[in-house]
This record gives sequence, structure tokens and C-alpha cells, in this order.
Amino acid sequence: MSQHHHLTILNDIEAVCKKRNVKLTNQRKIVLEIMLRAERTMSAYDLLDLLKLEEPQAKPPTIYRALEFLLEQGFIHKVESSNSYIICPHFSHPNHISILFICDNCKQILEKHSHDIEHNLQQLANKNQFDVKHSIIEIHGLCTSCQVLAD
Ligand SMILES: [Zn+2]
Ligand SMILES: [Zn+2]
Repeated sequence: MSQHHHLTILNDIEAVCKKRNVKLTNQRKIVLEIMLRAERTMSAYDLLDLLKLEEPQAKPPTIYRALEFLLEQGFIHKVESSNSYIICPHFSHPNHISILFICDNCKQILEKHSHDIEHNLQQLANKNQFDVKHSIIEIHGLCTSCQVLAD
């Protein structure tokens, strides 16, 4: 992702915050910037180390509060299997079901959506009178470049 692309995403996120009447504090913005620059999943401690470069007084609760806000707003997803976080490129649709293809070799994550899967899951939930809040499907395997390496 280019620097220009990062700025566009940040501007879009700021616009969404304004529309929802929530505050994207400077700290939350820095955390987003770090995640955009990293282009990979980051653990809370990875993020804290980088945040400390700009805000030396930052402590674990600082990062957890920022992550909580970003999760709540749907700007990032938590990857449970690696206990880390990624930016969601589809933040204007906070209720989507996110399908994460996780490469176990290089740790790259591709986020995809499927209307069919979304529809089927919703039907299954309805049938069981389950009220879905959010849902992430994590699929492990090898990405294209790592498949080549494995040959
Ligand atoms: Zn997403
Ligand atoms: Zn890979």
C-alpha cells in the first residue's frame, strides 16, 4: 500500500467517525497509522513498542483501550488464532462476516467476503434464534507465494 493510499484510508476512517459522532483521538489515529504501515497482523505488544516511539508514556492499557475502540467501530479485526489485529478494509460495512485466509508460513492475511456464506450463516443463526453480533472465519493454509516455495 502506498503512502497516498494510507492517507485516503485514514481520511475515510475520520469521516466515518465524524458521521458516527465518535472521537478518533490522536492516539487512536497513531495506532491505525502503525497498522497501515505494517501491512501485517500485529500483536498488542508489537503495537505498543511502535506507539512508544511516538508516545513514550504509552502503557499496555493505552493500547488496549485504543484497540477496543477500533474493534468496536469495526476498523480492525482480531485474529483469534494468533491473538493479533489487522486493519479491515471494509470498515464502512461494520456488520460484514469476515473470512480470513491466513498463511501459516509468512503470516500474511487476506480478508474476503462471500454473500453466499453470509446468507447461509444468517439463515442458520435465525433457525437457532441466535442474534449474531460479529463473526470471523479463520482459514489456515499457504498463500500463493508460499505454495511455490513449498514445491
Ligand atoms: Zn472486515
Ligand atoms: Zn505465505
